[in-house]
Amino acid sequence: MNNNFYNKTRTLVKTFYESMPWQIREGIRNIYPSRFAGPLYKLLPMAVPFSLHIDPTNLCNFRCTFCPTGDLDLLRTVGRSKGQMTVELFKKIIDELSEMCIASGQKVNELHIYKDGEPLVHKEFAKMAAYVKNKNVAESVQTTTNAALLTKDRTMEIIDSGLDLIRVSVEHVNDNGYKKITKIFGDYNLVKENVKFLFEEKTRRKNFGGFI
Ligand code: SF4
Repeated sequence: MNNNFYNKTRTLVKTFYESMPWQIREGIRNIYPSRFAGPLYKLLPMAVPFSLHIDPTNLCNFRCTFCPTGDLDLLRTVGRSKGQMTVELFKKIIDELSEMCIASGQKVNELHIYKDGEPLVHKEFAKMAAYVKNKNVAESVQTTTNAALLTKDRTMEIIDSGLDLIRVSVEHVNDNGYKKITKIFGDYNLVKENVKFLFEEKTRRKNFGGFI
């Protein structure tokens, strides 16, 4: 095929695609995701962030030796305040993001509900995740947890929220190792059982998203 013809056809298809309502474009992107992936520089400038981290809390139930969040003296020295985000503020951020998504016809590729803290310290984590999912502002809504607070009730809530992916951060493979690393937590079996229940429940419901 000659290059000129190829370029004209490509421009025509692109113009036609861009004239479609965003809901249809999103459907096409979902059917042929590989057609829309490419080097990041080709996607610039972006109307919405490619990836977004929103931290529901910067508190953590562990004090890991390698982590600034676990080093309370360091945090005091650098003057970093500690706290939890209100659900109202979280919703405001997502509402504003939703306006950007609607106006541009684009979505955030990955939205992470965590950054510096342990997200499950926030009691309303599942409510936040459900809000993001209902607003449909991201291709994938994810989090990372140490799984110590992942009780059965909370696991059910999180699965119900529709969260797409959970990364579980495992600090060691026995109690002593956990105690040494986290300084205040030494129950490897609890982490293992919590993750096992999450996996079994997700599998049972057949809405498996992913673990890393
Ligand atoms: S569990 Fe994660 S956030 Fe908490 S102290 Fe350890 S590494 Fe840091």
